[in-house]
Parts: sequence; structure tokens; C-alpha cells
Amino acid sequence: MPIDATQPYDDQNIFAKILRGEIPNRTVYEDEWALAFHDINPQAPEHVLVIPKGAYVCWDDFSAKASEAEIAGFVRAVGHVARTMGLVEPGYRLLANTGFDAHQEVPHLHVHIFGGKPLGPMLVR
Ligand code: AMP
Repeated sequence: MPIDATQPYDDQNIFAKILRGEIPNRTVYEDEWALAFHDINPQAPEHVLVIPKGAYVCWDDFSAKASEAEIAGFVRAVGHVARTMGLVEPGYRLLANTGFDAHQEVPHLHVHIFGGKPLGPMLVR
């Protein structure tokens, strides 16, 4: 079920459990600000999720409440991951589903990185 983007942070969500090491993940990159890992159900040849270490429900929550250092650290981590995956030259897509209409399912901010093939038009109409 898609989530309500205005809900309070639930520390039992699956990505909070991944951050605490309670659930395994296939880590691509980790630093002080972010963790990147392979999506369990990839929608492209390359499909990685990048999440902030802080407890933020979604993009709206993060952009409103995160510190400058958290925002800078997270944005730099997303760029670093895509770069080290070799996706800059062929190109890649970022996606941060936010709330119900976007079908956000996990209530911890995550940016999807998709790549590895021509991705086609932005949305299916
Ligand atoms: P969204 O619809 O933007 O909330 O996307 C949630 C994403 O999390 C989906 O692409 C899922 O396949 C992915 N996902 C859910 N559980 C896990 C997990 N344990 N490890 C990696 N990816 C997951």
C-alpha cells in the first residue's frame, strides 16, 4: 500500500531495519550520511536505492527538516554512487516517490537510481 507522506516516522520500516543491520542488504556504498544498496526487485539492469542515515519519511520531510550537512552529504552520495557505477556517460534516472499518488511504499526517504539500458519516456501514460 502506498504511504501517506505526512505520517510520522515509523522506526519499524524496512529501511530503518536495514540501517540498523537487522535485515541484510547488498550494499553498494556507505558513508556518514547515506547507504546505497541494490533494490530487491530491480526494474532496470542497474537499480540501486540510496537512503539517508537520518530518520526522514520522504523527500518532503527531508527537504524541510534535514540539516545542510545531511542534505549535502546525501546529494553527494547519490552522485558518487551513480558515477562509480559508470552511469554518467550512458545516462541514468533518479526517482524519489513521495506519498500516495507516487506510490511510495517504504516510509523512509529513498532515491532510486535506474540505468544500464535506454530507459524510454519518463512516465507510462
Ligand atoms: P517505492 O515504491 O519508491 O517506495 O520503492 C520501494 C522499493 O524498495 C521497491 O523498489 C522495492 O523493490 C524496494 N525494496 C523493498 N524492500 C527491500 C529490501 N529489503 N531490500 C532492497 N530493496 C527493497
